[in-house]
Amino acid sequence: MPIRKDSKDRYVEVELRRGEEPLWMRCGACGELVFRRRLRENNYICPRCGAYFFLTAQERIAALVDPDTFQDLTLPLESDDPLKFSDRKPYADRLREARESTGLSDAVMVGKGKIGDHEVILAVMDFRFIGGSMGVVVGEQLAHAMDVAVEARVPFVLVVASGGARVQEGVLSLLQMAKTVAARGRLARAGVPYIAVLTYPSTGGVMASIASLADVTLAEQGALIGFAGPRVIQQTTGEKLPPGFQRARYALEHGLVDGVVPREGLREELMQVLDVLAGVPHGG
Ligand SMILES: [Zn+2]
Repeated sequence: MPIRKDSKDRYVEVELRRGEEPLWMRCGACGELVFRRRLRENNYICPRCGAYFFLTAQERIAALVDPDTFQDLTLPLESDDPLKFSDRKPYADRLREARESTGLSDAVMVGKGKIGDHEVILAVMDFRFIGGSMGVVVGEQLAHAMDVAVEARVPFVLVVASGGARVQEGVLSLLQMAKTVAARGRLARAGVPYIAVLTYPSTGGVMASIASLADVTLAEQGALIGFAGPRVIQQTTGEKLPPGFQRARYALEHGLVDGVVPREGLREELMQVLDVLAGVPHGG
């Protein structure tokens, strides 16, 4: 696996987009106003300072999959708020707002498509939807995606953008860790490869289960990878953390991921990994 330089962590948090697509977007790192189309053509990387914008699931799919090959296989499921949970606002309201602002039924999209002519089953998480958290619906969609991959005998690709388990569904969301890991076991027994792409953020119960069990694990440059976030660890242990802690490069140096790839090289890298898995000979 080629190792690429991860020059610096360049992810920035930008205002999460809601509703109508704005024509212009402001870079959270340098303040530059960038024409949306220009940003899309540049892989949602700020042309001025190189900062990465968050990608929606739809944008991520468009960036990775061969044009016109994606077919949505997301199951028509919505969370029914099993605990009738409420914190600062009722969970039911959060769900409704997230559905309206993202156009998604929950925090993941599942589908099939081609990457460099290789058929894959994809699951792509969306951080806009309650932090990409995994509740019952996300767990079910992920297990569904893996079962479809087993049936079709094509590689499974998971793009992670998740803060972890969904607290609003309590222990039911923790159960999704076991459910997704069991589905991953079915992939393994069928000999179907699983590639994970960790983006910002890949943390909590998702990282502690399905996201850390791939055959090949790539991290997008600047990704945050860990269980609890650095601030929580620092407060709990009372110790200062090393520079770059939990960043993609750190995860690579400590053996958690196989490669750190800049966003503009991710599709190409996936194509190469899929070539290798399919036994396509490489010249040179
Ligand atoms: Zn910028």
